[in-house]
Amino acid sequence: MINIILLGAPGSGKGTQAEKIIQRYNLVHLSTGDIFREEIKKGSAIGILAKSYIDKGELIPDSVVLKELYRRALLHKNAKGLIFDGFPRNEKQGAMLDLLLRKKKKPISIVVCLEVPEEELFVRILKRAQISGRTDDTEEVIKNRLRIYRSETEPLKEYYKKQHKLIEVNGNRDVLNVAHSVSTSIDEFIENKNLK
Ligand code: AMP
Repeated sequence: MINIILLGAPGSGKGTQAEKIIQRYNLVHLSTGDIFREEIKKGSAIGILAKSYIDKGELIPDSVVLKELYRRALLHKNAKGLIFDGFPRNEKQGAMLDLLLRKKKKPISIVVCLEVPEEELFVRILKRAQISGRTDDTEEVIKNRLRIYRSETEPLKEYYKKQHKLIEVNGNRDVLNVAHSVSTSIDEFIENKNLK
């Protein structure tokens, strides 16, 4: 079993790369952003709560995110592995995830961080806004999301570096080139750590 985390700023291509990885390694994709957008569409209580944070580019409270993620992860008990996209977003979430997976004796295997320069992130998100219809893809909200990424999420790189699980990939290339680097790095990691 392999469990992978995809880290990276908003617009770094996590969703796109997650799709490639799940196909190649037969994993289940858990994107907290997608999960909450789905709840918003359904008009559920959790969706209404999530929207009040998402629209401002703020993080949804940890307790809400963890409860929902845990519920979804349980639906895939027999999966070959999970890929977490957009989760964890801060050290508290990282520590909680470690605790949960360790209890199940299925720890995080690898953390892939997609690195993309800030100017390019803006260009990408504003382009995506034209088709996504996402209420948080506006210039002002993007600025807040990037600020929160730098202050809350990026420190997770150090957290996973200490665990010798971090792979940094240049995400400032076309999708297929990035996907090739990501899968090569994952393959090497699996080989070296005997994870199969
Ligand atoms: P994303 O699709 O990953 O860019 O997430 C969109 C928005 O959903 C974020 O800006 C947050 O408001 C919220 N969100 C997604 N994942 C998390 C998380 N792990 N913790 C807190 N908020 C989250």
